[in-house]
Amino acid sequence: MARLVMKFGGTSVADIDRIRNVARHVKREVDAGHQVAVVVSAMAGTTNRLVEWCREAAALHDAREYDTVVATGEQVTSGLLAIVLESMGVNARSWQGWQLPMQTSDAHGSARILDVNGAELMKRFDERSEVAVISGFQGLHQKTRRITTLGRGGSDTSAVAVAAAIRAERCDIYTDVDGVYTTDPRVVAKARRLDKIAFEEMLELASLGAKVLQVRSVELGMVHNVRIFVRSSFDRPEDIDPHGNPPGTLICNEEEIVEQQVVTGIAFSKDEAQISIRRVQDKPGVAAAIFGPLAEANINVDMIVQNVSADGATTDLTFTVPAADYDRAQDTIAKARKDIGYERLDGATEVAKVSVIGIGMRSHAGVAAKAFRALAERGINIRAITTSEIKFSLLIEAAFTELAVRTLHSLYGLDKA
Ligand code: ADP
Ligand code: ASP
Ligand code: MG
Repeated sequence: MARLVMKFGGTSVADIDRIRNVARHVKREVDAGHQVAVVVSAMAGTTNRLVEWCREAAALHDAREYDTVVATGEQVTSGLLAIVLESMGVNARSWQGWQLPMQTSDAHGSARILDVNGAELMKRFDERSEVAVISGFQGLHQKTRRITTLGRGGSDTSAVAVAAAIRAERCDIYTDVDGVYTTDPRVVAKARRLDKIAFEEMLELASLGAKVLQVRSVELGMVHNVRIFVRSSFDRPEDIDPHGNPPGTLICNEEEIVEQQVVTGIAFSKDEAQISIRRVQDKPGVAAAIFGPLAEANINVDMIVQNVSADGATTDLTFTVPAADYDRAQDTIAKARKDIGYERLDGATEVAKVSVIGIGMRSHAGVAAKAFRALAERGINIRAITTSEIKFSLLIEAAFTELAVRTLHSLYGLDKA
């Protein structure tokens, strides 16, 4: 007997038929003798609609009320799944974030999990063989007693937090693909499923654009050593042997991976915007004058490129911010113009960041240089570059994203046969 967390995303619970399918997956594990906590997302499209309603109601709205609204999607699914499970003869009870409670910070809209109480769930496993059906994405800020949400894609993080709290053997993330691929399989047909991927690599892949897991879920899994297994919810539950080895990807410690490739995967993100400040004064304190106000405005700056001054007096400085913060960033820089001292402010939103990730890069030189050559041969201009120990990122024109990803995917030998 094992204790398991099973998480199902939006597409997997999109309608009652799919919820029935999910219930059959759950019943399979219960019948095999396992103790199960299920974490569910809102039905596909629901959260987007709720977010849109908030915007329609008022462009600038209170984040506390945003959370009140968007947390409702998951409540519906947890209740429906509990109903279906009971109708199949499986003991089940739904749990909202505030009922557990899933305690979080008060950063409404992207709250951090502080603590989850798993004791009551475990007691019910033992005493009543009851499946816990938990609404993902939601939490409670203890002091203010207000509902919080964990940021888009946050149900993954709820699931890993529950897995840590009940000391589950595994946290299965059921989704609409059968694992983590070398790149988004919806964009590159030749993408290959990985059997295993190290936490560090998954962290980079997720934070650089692969939305298959929320970044914080990977962080949490790494800290608490939760075995996260990404697999498909579309397999017929009856075809799966609960004691067998189903297809999927295990996120695990680096040491568990025997055959380490130099490059493991490629991520991309079109949610970037570029800002260039032309003819900035080249003198001490200018970087602080630019990035200080941006930090104060809570704008995350990512890639930064500063040219060497040609005339000794002025230079150009380029950096990227999330596309959603583009207008605010422009505004912040314009307001600080007197302190910074520059001639012109340029920007572009039609840009994308393509990133190449692999632990093997630590011990191999020249990995990035190969990419520059290959992209140049295809006429793709690189606007900015950043590197770290296990990844490098390139900023390019958005129209070339797919071509760049496919080119790099082949270049590093990731294409499936
Ligand atoms: P869920 O609703 O189940 O949480 P998501 O839409 O959040 O599902 O995540 C699954 C999606 O992530 C897939 O449909 C796929 O298009 C996308 N994706 C992006 N990069 C990858 C990758 N490297 N491997 C697998 N899926 C990826
Ligand atoms: N329903 C939430 C979202 O769409 C959380 C999740 O699906 O993980 O972002
Ligand atoms: Mg998701």
